[in-house]
Amino acid sequence: MPWRKHWVDPRIDADDPALLRQKLERRAYEVWISEIMLQQTRVAVVIDYWNRWMEKWPTIHELAATSGDDVLAAWRGLGYYSRATRIHNAAKLVCEDSAMKGLLPSSVDTLVAKVPGVGRYTAGAISAIVFGKAAPMVDGNVLRVLSRQLGLLGDVKTDKSVIDLLWAAADSLAKAVAEDSCDGEISSTTEEQISDRPGRWGQALMELGSTICTPKPDCEACPISTSCRAYGEGLQLASTRGLAPKDIQTTLNPNPLPDIEDSCDFCKPFEEVAQNGGDEDAEIVPISKKTNASRSKARPRLQRQATLSAFFTQSNESKETPDSVPTELTPAGLATIVNHAKKFPVKVVKKAVKEQETLVCAIRRSDDRYVIHRRPPKGLLAGLWEFPSWIIPEDCENTETAYKRAAELHASAVLDPTLKLQSLTHPKLKYVSKLGSVPWLFSHLKLTMHVFLFEIKCSKNEFDTLPSTDDRWSDSIETESMGTGMRKCWDLVREVNGD
Ligand code: SF4
Repeated sequence: MPWRKHWVDPRIDADDPALLRQKLERRAYEVWISEIMLQQTRVAVVIDYWNRWMEKWPTIHELAATSGDDVLAAWRGLGYYSRATRIHNAAKLVCEDSAMKGLLPSSVDTLVAKVPGVGRYTAGAISAIVFGKAAPMVDGNVLRVLSRQLGLLGDVKTDKSVIDLLWAAADSLAKAVAEDSCDGEISSTTEEQISDRPGRWGQALMELGSTICTPKPDCEACPISTSCRAYGEGLQLASTRGLAPKDIQTTLNPNPLPDIEDSCDFCKPFEEVAQNGGDEDAEIVPISKKTNASRSKARPRLQRQATLSAFFTQSNESKETPDSVPTELTPAGLATIVNHAKKFPVKVVKKAVKEQETLVCAIRRSDDRYVIHRRPPKGLLAGLWEFPSWIIPEDCENTETAYKRAAELHASAVLDPTLKLQSLTHPKLKYVSKLGSVPWLFSHLKLTMHVFLFEIKCSKNEFDTLPSTDDRWSDSIETESMGTGMRKCWDLVREVNGD
């Protein structure tokens, strides 16, 4: 990943503050852009975008000085376009601010408070990776890893108390990591002591979550399985089924989790289907509750996770863990562990994707220019240009004739907004044809765009000024900042034009 670079150690350039500032400014900018691009977007996709971005605007000052349309054009294809607008606005603010003068703040609180669009995750990444502070950086992958490491059966997407607890755990871990000197001993550090360790450790945890501790984890390859509670519980399950060799059982779990009376009220209950063997996914009850589980063999019931005290009250001897993951586990035993780990975190039922249809009106003038409309500054495809479009309401008659009429009215309203109210078409607007329909999928929306072509027969300079300030004529659609879906609509128009 091109944004992964050596830490800027301030001690090295301590005698040249200007150079140090320049280096920090550049690194903070690079990490910031990479983190925003990586939100909702895969690493493989981001790499090219990030490289092109840095070539075009190597510093935050150059980004701040460019136009909003240029920024949107560079973002084209990455999706969630409001990110681009926020980055641009934030760059201008950071450069104009008399305290920051182009250098992002180093503390999480200040970053969140002063830089628009920077939340605690991005702030943590900048603070730890660039400035070496003991700040946690918790993305979706880290939430999953930590929920498994702690055996916390909760909803890490929407349950604030669960999310806060995992952030607090990550914060403690980041501080502990920062205090570890390289030789493994605890050094006498102050809050302000900085190093590359928090950043490296945070990135390693994210990497683990994206490569090994994925929704379907590869526990056999995991370097931290010995501290993983989900792994330990899965191993105990395998052990009760005779799927783990005896020596492994005694090595990993000299003392099985103690039975505890109080179950965890913080975790969600496991859904257990009490059956005798067979279904791996069914038997997800913690071992400490296996006696209770065996009492109910026929009907589905809920079982609670044991509290973490079960871990912390084990004897020192029982806390000792082997240096490496045992390899002698049978495939069935490993599958038992993986199936148990997969239960963490709690699965959230996804909301059904909303469906929407729009009419897209390509309005061409005799001089081959087209009307384009700028979308609102917030929301879906924020600030991008598009052909005038109209969302078809649910109660609209679902026929070709009705859609054609609605498209005519919408296109007419672009030339004269009063016509729509009167259900009149503009006398100079000529319907050409329906060009087709373009399906487009967003993460939360399934969109179908019905594309209609219109022509305006007018004299030179007529309609040069359009009634809405969000509309204008374009003689170069190719270079406009449009979303990828709208470009597919443009492809239909080009086909008709014979381009
Ligand atoms: S042992 Fe498995 S569940 Fe635990 S952290 Fe590693 S990959 Fe994730």
